[in-house]
Amino acid sequence: MKEAILYAHLSWPEIRDLDKENMVVVQPFAAIEDHGPHLPVETDCLLINALCLAAARKIKKNVLLMPLIPYGYVEHHMDFPGPISIDGHHLIGYLAGALKSLTRHGFRRLLVANGHGSNRPFMDVAARTVMDSTDAIVGCVTPYSLAKKEIKDICESQFISHAEELETSLVLYLDETLVDLAKRVKEIGFPISKFHWRSLIDAPPLSFVDRWSRISESGVVGDATLASKEKGEKLFAVIVERLAELIEEFMHREIKPNRDHHR
Ligand SMILES: [Zn+2]
Repeated sequence: MKEAILYAHLSWPEIRDLDKENMVVVQPFAAIEDHGPHLPVETDCLLINALCLAAARKIKKNVLLMPLIPYGYVEHHMDFPGPISIDGHHLIGYLAGALKSLTRHGFRRLLVANGHGSNRPFMDVAARTVMDSTDAIVGCVTPYSLAKKEIKDICESQFISHAEELETSLVLYLDETLVDLAKRVKEIGFPISKFHWRSLIDAPPLSFVDRWSRISESGVVGDATLASKEKGEKLFAVIVERLAELIEEFMHREIKPNRDHHR
């Protein structure tokens, strides 16, 4: 059924006639990659799309949701069967092209909502490229980081990283038929260090992304055995609430004109 918040449902005259002054266009961006033996490879796509859709439905006005970009940078996962990796430079150009197209139709508030940790550097460069070459503002967010405290309160695990308590709980909440409960594992295979750890919500001071097959046998990093549908419901609600809050603030952020000081 047609929904006014979905860009893909609109006709070109409807897009032309939108009041774009405060409209925030949200571009969900994710990846297809291994998520342990118990979750589907579409996990990041499923989660970010559901979170963005729920946040947009909550806000209702002045928000438009773009079709999901399903492929991201997953080169470090290619030792496992399943991932689809896009070269980083292509990814920057592809995302920047999508965002720039929106600016040509008059949209000026663009927000990339990312569901996959390793997309971050490419997403940031794409956003900067569009910011610096158009009059739009382009923000990037990985929504899990908006609810760090709540995620730490709801989850029992020390490490919130990949295919673990957080992601498994969220998929259980959204569609439990996609989770093979018996195959859940706990695996924390990376060396524990003062300066480096794996986290979807807390960036370590020393950043590097090891090849996944060096730090995980199962593909899981964290503890999937602690996941539950009940935790997923709570996690989903709080992340959606924070994301909606961020979108509403972005909607009302003042965009001042830039001024050329050469003359
Ligand atoms: Zn994931």
